[in-house]
Amino acid sequence: MKLYDMTIKQASDALQNKQISAVELTKGLLNRIEDKEQSVSTLNTVCADFALKEAEASDKRRAANTQKSMFDGIPAIIKDNICTKGIKTSCSSKILENFVPPYNAHVVERFANQGIITLGKANLDEFAMGSSTENSAFGATSNPWDLSRVPGGSSGGSAAAVSASFAPLALGSDTGGSIRQPASYCGVVGLKPTYGAVSRYGLVAFASSLDQIGPITRSVEDAAFALNAICGHDKRDTTSMDVEYPDYTQGISDGVKGMKIGLPKEYFADGLDTEVKDALSAAVKALESQGAIVEETTLPTFEYALTAYYIISSAEATSNLSRYDGVKYGYRASDFDGITDLYTQTRNQGFGDEVKRRMMLGNYVLSSGYYDAYYMKALKVRTLIKQDFDALFEKYDCIISPSAPAPAFKAGEKSDPMQMYLTDIYTVPVNIAGLTAISVPCAMSNLGLPIGIQLIAKPMGEPTMLKAAYALEQASPPMGQPTFKGGA
Ligand code: GLN
Repeated sequence: MKLYDMTIKQASDALQNKQISAVELTKGLLNRIEDKEQSVSTLNTVCADFALKEAEASDKRRAANTQKSMFDGIPAIIKDNICTKGIKTSCSSKILENFVPPYNAHVVERFANQGIITLGKANLDEFAMGSSTENSAFGATSNPWDLSRVPGGSSGGSAAAVSASFAPLALGSDTGGSIRQPASYCGVVGLKPTYGAVSRYGLVAFASSLDQIGPITRSVEDAAFALNAICGHDKRDTTSMDVEYPDYTQGISDGVKGMKIGLPKEYFADGLDTEVKDALSAAVKALESQGAIVEETTLPTFEYALTAYYIISSAEATSNLSRYDGVKYGYRASDFDGITDLYTQTRNQGFGDEVKRRMMLGNYVLSSGYYDAYYMKALKVRTLIKQDFDALFEKYDCIISPSAPAPAFKAGEKSDPMQMYLTDIYTVPVNIAGLTAISVPCAMSNLGLPIGIQLIAKPMGEPTMLKAAYALEQASPPMGQPTFKGGA
């Protein structure tokens, strides 16, 4: 087995048995990046020297039997909107192009405490706003399965990097689907944890009531390992849950016998690609054949979720992004006439089009004349969606759905923002209701593009969801390796 193809579990076992060293593993991945990164552009920063030093330190710990955890020496890639002390954190925005955080995000601290090595920072849609990683100020990322297609977004750099075998683990952030949709497009596993299970301290805020950090991995078991590494209470995030967190790997292979799974009929909406529909049917059959009981059900508010999401997330974004003014940190326009002009020029030059669109939309829905008509109404819809899901989880352990309406689309194909927003239709309800969900690679389209299926569970329902996801993964054909073909 090649060093760069290992899962977290395989690499961790190989390190523990002294079959490989952390330096060898890190070098293997750096070589792979050197070989393939040019064709996919997944990384804003490669931390080669830093990572090799950390790997040496990790090897010393293992030699002395003082390793920090089973993950000691495993390299990971971090989405570039998660703060890394001393390492640039740009959010793929010109306004933070040269921003070097003076502190680590909670998840990065947790990684360091467990010996997990930061190998690089992954490209994203600017400030995580987008579904294709085309909105990056530093150039788009390509899908390793077809270079003429997008990897999804906004964590497209993280998903494409794992798919391209640059690391066994990457962190993404998911506000409306940004972990699950790119994972689906790139043929890897993406998990959005329950809201409040992973601290948002040090995650650059987009929409604070929806944002959640989560793992992108090559297997469901690895997703469970990664949750063990990042979940937990942190008092620096007031929405972080102070509860007992389980060992997420426990019982993962116990099977789905007797598990009740709901399939809302609204998911078969117009625009659902036939191959995705077939993949969903195959997934349902696979779970049924293992003893799960899958029933058709209803989620009446499904059709309002996307609208509510774009109103709420834009309103929160406009507030969160007001801090970039050219004074405190980040880019500052060089030519200005007074303080107001400094703000205007800086923001005008520093932000890209999509970010500006969200801020305009956000200010509009929050303005006094429209607050009740849009923002208040969206909050009410949010409550209704939550109630719909609460009712479903009285009856079902999990909900099954497509991760995205179709496989990865061509770069440049969705220049109309509404078309782009529609790719999130299956993922946003989960964030709106604060649930957990996972995208599992389940099928391959006729064009050789991966198709992911999503499983959703109630808050803190990860252990049950992981069981179903593991069963689904075992029953699905292996994805194989991406081709790095296509494109210009
Ligand atoms: N694609 C969605 C958006 O553009 C979701 C983004 C995300 O989850 N960060 O808002």
